[in-house]
Amino acid sequence: MREIPADTQNIRYLKGIGPKKEEIFNRLGISTIKDLLYYLPLRYEDRRTITPIKALVKDGFFSVQGKVLAKNLRPLQPKMWRQLSRKSIFEVVIGDGSGILTCVWFNQTYLKDYVNLGDELVLYGKCRIYKGKRQLVAPEFEILGSKTDPSLNLGRIVGFYRLTEGLTQKIIRKILHSFLDRFGSKLNDPIPYYIRKKENIPNLPYSLRNIHFPSDLKDAVLARQRFIYEELFFSQILVYLRKARHRSQRSVFISGDNGVREELEKSMAFKLTPCQEKVVGEIFNDLKRPYPMHRLLQGDVGCGKTIVACFAIAWMAQSDFQAAFMVPTEVLAYQHIATLKDLLKRFNFKIEILTSSLSTKDKQAVYNNLRDGTTDIVIGTHSLVEQAVVFKNLGLVVIDEQHKFGVAQRTLLPKKAKKYAPHCLVMSATPIPRTLSLSLYGDLDLSVIDNLPPGRKQPRTLWVGNDKRRWVYDLLREKLKEKRQAYIIYPVIEESNDWDLRSLREMYDVIKEEFNDFEVAMFHGKMSNKEKGIIIKKFKQNHVNILIATTIIEVGVNIENATVMVVENPERFGLAQLHQLRGRIRRSTYQPEFILIGDAGLSDNAKKRLEIISTTNDGFKIAEEDLTLRGPGDFFGSSQSGFPQLKIASPLGDLEILKQARLSAYRVIKNDPYLREPAHRCIKEQLDFWLKK
Ligand code: ADP
Ligand code: MG
Repeated sequence: MREIPADTQNIRYLKGIGPKKEEIFNRLGISTIKDLLYYLPLRYEDRRTITPIKALVKDGFFSVQGKVLAKNLRPLQPKMWRQLSRKSIFEVVIGDGSGILTCVWFNQTYLKDYVNLGDELVLYGKCRIYKGKRQLVAPEFEILGSKTDPSLNLGRIVGFYRLTEGLTQKIIRKILHSFLDRFGSKLNDPIPYYIRKKENIPNLPYSLRNIHFPSDLKDAVLARQRFIYEELFFSQILVYLRKARHRSQRSVFISGDNGVREELEKSMAFKLTPCQEKVVGEIFNDLKRPYPMHRLLQGDVGCGKTIVACFAIAWMAQSDFQAAFMVPTEVLAYQHIATLKDLLKRFNFKIEILTSSLSTKDKQAVYNNLRDGTTDIVIGTHSLVEQAVVFKNLGLVVIDEQHKFGVAQRTLLPKKAKKYAPHCLVMSATPIPRTLSLSLYGDLDLSVIDNLPPGRKQPRTLWVGNDKRRWVYDLLREKLKEKRQAYIIYPVIEESNDWDLRSLREMYDVIKEEFNDFEVAMFHGKMSNKEKGIIIKKFKQNHVNILIATTIIEVGVNIENATVMVVENPERFGLAQLHQLRGRIRRSTYQPEFILIGDAGLSDNAKKRLEIISTTNDGFKIAEEDLTLRGPGDFFGSSQSGFPQLKIASPLGDLEILKQARLSAYRVIKNDPYLREPAHRCIKEQLDFWLKK
C-alpha cells in the first residue's frame, strides 16, 4: 500500500493531537502535517548562556541554573487577593555557588509537590529587586535530570510562535519537535533539487529543523531565507503560469491606427506628456498582438490616466469591437462618460452608461444595445458584471481604480467576451512597492506614468491644531474670494448610518453660518444618486463654493477649480486615503492647499501618518511608509490578487531574493510550461496542495 504523503496527511489521527488540539490548530489554519511544520516562529530568544546568580542585574532577562535550597507555599493577605487576584505564593530559593536567588510563583499551589529540595533547576525570567534582594517572578523553568531529552524551552535558542487560546509556547514547541522527528524528512521538498543546488539553498529537512530549533542564529537566518525564497519562487511560478495562459488565448486584434490618434488629438485641449505618449505606444503594441493585453497602468492621482485609456477605447471601437469601462462609483461613471463623449465627439460611436440607479426600462435598453452591438462603448459601475449584461463582441475591458474592486469583480467582466479573450487594461493610483507588485500583479505588464501634466503645483500641506481653526477659515475665505473652491472632508465611518452623519450635518451648519456669503453644500453616501449628480454638477459649475463631503469624494472626482481641502479629524484616515484625498486638489495650475485639523489624543501611529503626509507628496514613498506602518496583509487583502498571501517574505526587504526566485521560475515555466518533467513534479504537487486548500 502506498503511504499517504506527509504533505497532505491530516494531523487529526496522529499521536499527540487529540480532537481538542486539532480544533486549536485548525483555528491557526493548520490541518496537515505540512501546515504544522510550516508554522514558523515569529522571533527567537537566545537562552543559551547561563548567568551566575551574582551577575544578575535589575530588569534584565537571564537563564540561571541552580539547586533548590528551600521552598515555601503560603497564602496571601485577603487585601492582595482583591487587588491582584493573588491568593497564594510559592517561593523557592536556589543557589549556584555564586549567590542565592528567590523565585516566586502566584496561585500555582501544585508546584509545592513538583519542586523538591535538592532539585537542579534551569530557569529563565526577568530579574527584579524586591526588598533589596534579587528575585525572578514566575520564571519559566525545568527540573534537570527529570528526563534525558534536551530541553526545548531553556538553555538554547528558542522560537516564539503566534498563539491562540488553549495553546502555549511550550506545547507548540513540544509538538513541533516530535513532528519534526517523525516527519521532518518525509515531506517532499517543493523546490527542485537542481535549483537548490544552483542557488545554494538548503534542503527542506535542514531548513525546518533550523528554523524551529536552531543551534545558532546564523542557521536560523539561512533557513528563513530558504522559506522566503520558496514563497517568492512559488508566487512567481503562479505569475508565469498565468502569463502563459494569457498568451495561449486568442484576442481580437486591430490592424492599425485607422486615423484614431490624429482625430483624438484634435479634440484634446492639451498635448500628451512624453510619459503618456510612451504608454499609449505600449498599449497600441499590445492591441496589435494576437493574444490579449493584460496591462496595469500605474500613475499617481491626477497624472492623466483616463486620456490614455481613451486611446485604447477609440482604437477598439473604430475596429468595430465593443469596449467596457468599469469604475467604482456612479459619480465617476458620469464624469467619465462626459469626458469620453467630449473627446470622442469626432467619431461616430454610441456611448452609454450603465449603473444601478438606471430605471429598469433604461437598463433593458442598454442590455439590448450591448447584445446586438448598437452600443460601442459602455461605462458603468459593477452593474457591468451582472448576468443580464451580454456583449456582442467585447474586445476591451478597462478597469479604473482597480484596487477598489475585488478579484471576483475584476475577473468576471473579461469573461463576458465570447469568442475571443478581451484585452484588459487595469488602472491604479496606488503605487505599489516592487516586490508586492511583482508577486501580486506580476502576470500583468506594467506601464507607469511618473510625472504630472505640465504646470501642476504640488499641494502645500499644513497640519494644525484646533486652536488654529480661525486661521484656517481666514485662509479659506481668501481662496474663495480668488474664485477657488474648497472641500471640507469629514470622517464618517458608516455612511448609511444616520447617527454617524449627524456630526457631518452639524459641521455643515457651522460652516454655513461662518461662510454665509458663499454657497455651501453637503455630499455623502446616503444621498440618492440623483441628488449627488445635482450637487456635483453645481460644484463643477462653481455654483457651490464649499463642499462638505465624506470620503466618497476620494476616488477619481475631477474638479479642476477646487484647490483647497480641509480635512477634519485626519487621524481617522489611513495614509493612502489621505494621499488620494489630496490628489483631488492637484488638477489645475493653481496652488493647492491641503489642511489637516487635528490634535486631540493622537496615537503615535496617527502622529507618524500625519507627519509623513505633511512632509512628502511622493505617492511612492507614502505607499512604502503605509506598508511599513500597516503591514502587507492589510495593504492588499489576498482577495485583491487571487494569489496566496505572502507570509514571511517582506514586500520591502526581499527584493534581491525575489529577483533570484523570479528568474528561476521564469526558466522553469519557459522550458516546461505544463510542469511535466520529473524534476518539476515537486512544483506541481505544491500547486495542487494549494489548490486543494
Ligand atoms: P487620473 O490619473 O487620476 O485618473 P485624470 O485622467 O482624471 O487623472 O486626469 C486629471 C486631469 O489632468 C484631467 O483634468 C485631465 O484632463 C488632465 N490632463 C491629463 N493629461 C494631461 C496633459 N497631458 N496635459 C494637461 N492636462 C492633462
Ligand atoms: Mg482616474
